[in-house]
Amino acid sequence: MIFDRYGRPFATLRIAVTRRCNFKCFFCHLEGASETSRGELKTWEIGVLAEASRRLEARRFKLTGGEPLIRSDIAEIVGEIKHFGDPEDLSMTTNGSLLDRYAYRLAEAGLNRVNISLHSLRGEVFRRITGVDALKSVLRGIEAAYDAGLTPIKLNYVVLKGLNDDELWDLVEYAGRINARLQVIELHPVGLGAVGFTKYHYPATRIARMLEEHAEKIIVREELHMRPIYRLSNGVEVELVGPVGNYWFCSRCTRIRVLPDGSLSPCLNWKGPFIPAAEMIRRAKSREEAVEKAMEALIKANRLRKPYYMFPLEDGSPSLQLLPRRNPWLKSFRLGLPKPDGRLA
Ligand code: SAM
Ligand code: SF4
Repeated sequence: MIFDRYGRPFATLRIAVTRRCNFKCFFCHLEGASETSRGELKTWEIGVLAEASRRLEARRFKLTGGEPLIRSDIAEIVGEIKHFGDPEDLSMTTNGSLLDRYAYRLAEAGLNRVNISLHSLRGEVFRRITGVDALKSVLRGIEAAYDAGLTPIKLNYVVLKGLNDDELWDLVEYAGRINARLQVIELHPVGLGAVGFTKYHYPATRIARMLEEHAEKIIVREELHMRPIYRLSNGVEVELVGPVGNYWFCSRCTRIRVLPDGSLSPCLNWKGPFIPAAEMIRRAKSREEAVEKAMEALIKANRLRKPYYMFPLEDGSPSLQLLPRRNPWLKSFRLGLPKPDGRLA
């Protein structure tokens, strides 16, 4: 296993397999890819990156995009990762609109579970957010994911002020009905998300307060960005992803990101330079050399990783207030984390 300069392990490879998409969400962060990057990784190249990650003991894989189901070889991509990455967890984030076509093939190829974006249950609001009239096909996709056993399903709901911020309880109710977990996501000011950020940003702290009132229990997912999970009295679990200005979030990040053109990024907020993994893999003369080049690229990207909490909110409400007072991370913080030079504080 490799660690970055802040003692955080690299455990998760998040792979954006394409930048193409059949939706036009006005806030899309494009997974941090630059506007001008072009090209896509081939199926075998994704397999090479998966094998390189496995050799570095990172065996959690997330497929994303653009819309990953736009790629007609998506089931083969899953198969490559399953074969070469020996995944502990292999999941996908999708807008769900094409899931009814692919769910069974994906499950057969080795996909464990899906996160499906569902920003509204109202057709007109859904269309205003995503630019397409596709709510019904997404709901069909959710059913197909259940039938195929791609569970537990998480519903990703990006809260947007004045558009869908009044749908929290409707989505909680829907998640309860279909036995899914609701993941409430704070708008992030990256990519197109930076454009209307002031207009549409709805602070996660406000959502946290609403959830606290109805929570029977609050747990913290230490291994995943210290995210709080609210277990509500109706049995539904709501996970809150509030990265804006939240250094607790960064403190437990384990990710390296593969951008659609095959370059590596240490963080969603990273503006470059990116590590040109695809170019390095393509210069190799054998598959073994390609895996070694991919490992070299991952190690370089890992060196660039650092906690990134550069978006303090103008109203001064730090998202770290989300976390319970007796926070286990605080304890390890006091015990002393490795300093950037590797020494213990
Ligand atoms: N197309 C797929 C989808 O929408 O689910 C996968 C790619 S999308 C970039 C990954 C996730 O990021 C989705 O849940 C999406 O809603 C969310 N997302 C996109 N832009 C965002 C932003 N600016 N802030 C917060 N979440 C965002
Ligand atoms: Fe497409 Fe997902 Fe971006 Fe929406 S958030 S435009 S569905 S990639």
